[in-house]
Amino acid sequence: MTNVGRIAVVAAGLAVAACQAGAAEKTVGYKSWSSSEIPRAEGVLRVMAIVAHPDDADFRMGCLAVKLSRMGVRVRFVSVCNGNMGHQTMMPPELAARRKREAEEAGRKYGIERYDVLDNADCSLMPDYERRVQLVKLIREFQPDFIVTHRTCDYHADHRAVGQLVQDAGYLLGVPHWVPDAPVQRKRPVILFATDSFTQPRTLRPDVMVDAEPFLEQWCEGVNCHVSQIYEWLPWDSGYQSELAAAKASKEGRNAYIIRHWAARKARDAKRFAENWKAKYPDTPVPGHIEVFEVSEYGRKPSADDLARFAGLVK
Ligand SMILES: [Zn+2]
Repeated sequence: MTNVGRIAVVAAGLAVAACQAGAAEKTVGYKSWSSSEIPRAEGVLRVMAIVAHPDDADFRMGCLAVKLSRMGVRVRFVSVCNGNMGHQTMMPPELAARRKREAEEAGRKYGIERYDVLDNADCSLMPDYERRVQLVKLIREFQPDFIVTHRTCDYHADHRAVGQLVQDAGYLLGVPHWVPDAPVQRKRPVILFATDSFTQPRTLRPDVMVDAEPFLEQWCEGVNCHVSQIYEWLPWDSGYQSELAAAKASKEGRNAYIIRHWAARKARDAKRFAENWKAKYPDTPVPGHIEVFEVSEYGRKPSADDLARFAGLVK
């Protein structure tokens, strides 16, 4: 096909799609796409975690997700990889299907509206064009106010790739002629980094701190759904399989095990950011477990009120 032929086909496709969308204007071509923006119902907050694996959001913002869901906020988790490498014996296709089921069940325990697991293989993710388009379409479809993701300084290549992809998407979401079959997002989301312990080039700077303690019990119920991870793969990978018998014996034993191992980063953050907490909330004692987030410069610049809404401090 010649270039002229291709342009004609593209223009015809756009015109048909514009009619299907019920656009009042007759303009054929790119201009008509301004009418396809999704009308946003203001007032209902939308929060989206876009992370690498089907447990990353759970460990990093599970308590905030419980809190916000209880308040009526629309919360979605997206795992960009399918988790198919996270096991010592189970084969990848079987594991991917199992982890999708585990993630969806965990999502129901937290009360979030969806837990999506995309079908990209673990340990192979690249911040490439195809993945960029995939994520931009997904984000535009939901039109979130806030996106939580990884920083790009992280031990895991999949985490770094997702952090890169989300930050790349931050600007592209609002470019109407780029991926024109997905309506643009006019109000760009605030992008926040979930916690990590890396110090190069610098330690995470907590712009938002959330008391996780009131939500830990419900959070444990969700984390407990990731059986392939917390009872099989991660104990094998980290060498503490001997604790599992006690963990499985009772709900109390199970929750104690989950909090000891999987809430450890929340306890660690409460200690390392204690001075930040005291400065921000001088009248509230530092909780034993907190979840922290840093604002990325590549999303919308949030106001203090935006951050209070994200933290579930105001409706
Ligand atoms: Zn991960």
